[in-house]
Amino acid sequence: MPHLPTPSCRRRPRPLPVGRALLLTLLVLAAVGCGRPGSPPVKGPKAADLPRYAVARNFSLPASPTWTAAKRRGRLIIGVKEDQPYLGERDPASGTYRGFDIEIAKMMAAALGFPERAVTFRTIASANRETALQNGQIDLYVGTYTINAKRTRQVGFAGPYYLAGQSLLVRSDEHDIHGPQNLAGKRVCSAAGSTPYQRIEADYPRAVLVAYDTYSVCVDNLLTYQVDAVTTDDAILLGYAAKVPDQLKVVGAPFSKEPYGIGVRRSDHALRFALDDALAAAERNGTWQKAYRATLGVSGVPAPAPPPINRYPAG
Ligand code: GLU
Repeated sequence: MPHLPTPSCRRRPRPLPVGRALLLTLLVLAAVGCGRPGSPPVKGPKAADLPRYAVARNFSLPASPTWTAAKRRGRLIIGVKEDQPYLGERDPASGTYRGFDIEIAKMMAAALGFPERAVTFRTIASANRETALQNGQIDLYVGTYTINAKRTRQVGFAGPYYLAGQSLLVRSDEHDIHGPQNLAGKRVCSAAGSTPYQRIEADYPRAVLVAYDTYSVCVDNLLTYQVDAVTTDDAILLGYAAKVPDQLKVVGAPFSKEPYGIGVRRSDHALRFALDDALAAAERNGTWQKAYRATLGVSGVPAPAPPPINRYPAG
C-alpha cells in the first residue's frame, strides 16, 4: 500500500483546499510532460543509455544469510525511493524504476548473481528503512541513505558510493532565504526520519519544521505556498528544480556531508563486504562512472570521484 503523507509538524501549515493543491500538482506535471516555451527540455535517463551489468556466474556467498535466502527465493528484494528524480524514480505507467540509485542497485544485484529480471524493487520511505531491513522486508536498501553513527548501530552500510550535502530548495520568487541562517520563522519541510530534518531540528531551532513521508509532498507544499523551503540533499533537490526550473531554485552552499551507503542487516557482514568489493570493482573499471553519466550526469555535472569505501570491521 502506498504511504499516505502523514504530516507531523511543530506547527501545522495553513490547510489548502485539496482541489487547489491537486490542480497545481497537475499543472506542474503538465509542464514537466509537455515542456513550455522558455524552459529547458526535460531530460532524463533513457533506457538505451543505461549500462548493462555482467551477471556474476557461479557466484556464491554461503556466509551471508540474506544472500542464501534470496538465492533460494530466486529474487533479490531491494528497497528504494520512487519520487526522487535522477536518483530513484518510478514511472507510474510502466512501473519501471530509474535513476542513479537504481543503477547502483542493479549493479550490486548483478555482482551477487541476480539478473535484472530477478530483482524486485520495493519503495520504502526514509523513516522506515532500518525497520524494513531488520524485519526482512527487503534484502538491501539503495536510496540516498546517509551513513551515520546512529544508523550504524541498527543496520550495516556498504560504501559510501556517493557524497551529497544538505541544501535548500525554494520558489524562484523567494528572495529572503540564501542559506540555513535565514530559516528563523520560516516553514521548512523535510522527510520524517531523515538526517536533514534532524539537522534543522538540532542546529536551527527557530525554523518551523514540517515533516512528510516523502520529499515530493514537500515540493507540492512549496509550490502551493504551504511551506517556504524544502531541505534535504543537494542531489535530490537539484532533480526537483530541474523538473520545473522556472518555479524552483536551489540556494546556498551545501551545509553537511551525506555519504550514501547501501543498507544491509547489521549482522550480515559477509554481504556488506561483498558489496564493498563490488562497488570498488565498479569504480575501478568505469561501470560506476557510466551509471552516473546515464542518470545524475544528464544534468551536465561531470562524474565526481566516488568517496573512499569504508570497509569497517565486523563487530
Ligand atoms: N540522505 C539523507 C538521509 O538519509 C536524506 C535523504 C533521504 O531521506 O533519503 O536521511
